[in-house]
Amino acid sequence: MNIYGIAGVAPAARRRIFAASSPKPYTNRLSGATWNEPLGMEEIHKIAVSVVVPVYNEEQSLRPLWEEIRDAMEVPDAPSYEIIYVDDGSADRSVDICRALHEEDPEHVRLVILRRNFGQTAAMAAGFDAAQGEVLIPLDADLQNDPRDIHPLLHKLDEGYDVVSGWREKRKDGFILRRLPSIIANWLISTITGVHLHDYGCTLKAYRREVTEHMNLYGELHRFLPALASWAGARVTEIPVNHRARKFGSSNYGIGRTTRVVLDLITIKFLLSYS
Ligand code: UDP
Ligand code: MG
Repeated sequence: MNIYGIAGVAPAARRRIFAASSPKPYTNRLSGATWNEPLGMEEIHKIAVSVVVPVYNEEQSLRPLWEEIRDAMEVPDAPSYEIIYVDDGSADRSVDICRALHEEDPEHVRLVILRRNFGQTAAMAAGFDAAQGEVLIPLDADLQNDPRDIHPLLHKLDEGYDVVSGWREKRKDGFILRRLPSIIANWLISTITGVHLHDYGCTLKAYRREVTEHMNLYGELHRFLPALASWAGARVTEIPVNHRARKFGSSNYGIGRTTRVVLDLITIKFLLSYS
């Protein structure tokens, strides 16, 4: 059966050995991010869904998040999946915890370790590069996104979309520093790009992999992916998703991110005027 429009491949044909004998450090040509051979990538299978999780000092959230993703994905008729944690130079025990999760669940958990902190966009790009899935689903590590939204996103893709963007309709972040700048940013981005979404900033989205394959991600550009994809002909839509307050640690961003988003918006405007 074809679940979510993702072709199933016979198990024997799925396997392909991945240079297991001579692991080379990999370099991402755009961010300059480097990482060692991802754990668990020795044998690559054809996988339907890759959940990509950028991780920066999230030691307390990682295990509960893994449990939530597992519970969401291991239901009858669910597609095959992998979880790619991308450690973005964490200074806490995040890497150790990801390694432990990989050991407990080698079939699903993979780990990419960046050599220093490159930022969320670069971490996401590194995860996309390593991902095997036909559909890529980025998800925050801090439990603010809810893995139970993965299936609704996949169902929406199955209706014939290439990108389904999560919309944190009831966002659980502060108003002045978060929701207000976000309302303005979403209005600006929608107006300038002509691709109208309520919540560009929501990490939780679903992309068919073809859409992400030729995208160059830098700066804060990951949030503009739906607009870039739409210009490239992709069908883009959004659905409301759950959002939760951060339980452990604290946000890595302050109001300063707004400046970077605006600068990226200028880049986008330039790209648009040449396209
Ligand atoms: N993150 C990252 N590198 C960074 C900053 C953040 O990989 O330099 C990750 C972080 O661990 C989380 C996601 O990006 O999984 C979103 O970060 P955060 O929760 O701090 O942002 P907010 O939700 O407040 O926008
Ligand atoms: Mg967060």
